[in-house]
Amino acid sequence: YHCPHCKIIFGDSRVYEIHMEFHDPTDPFHCRLCGRVSKDGRDFFLHVAQFAHK
Ligand SMILES: [Zn+2]
Ligand SMILES: [Zn+2]
Repeated sequence: YHCPHCKIIFGDSRVYEIHMEFHDPTDPFHCRLCGRVSKDGRDFFLHVAQFAHK
């Protein structure tokens, strides 16, 4: 399982699906849950990993 936007490999399909939920289909670095826009894949990945979305 590979995120083409963040260039991250996931070993678990469930984790991958949860991660992909954050990507906006039209603007991949725009977080769909909180609206934050990241400048690149690494920034986006860190945001998703560190920010508590409820
Ligand atoms: Zn991603
Ligand atoms: Zn977010």
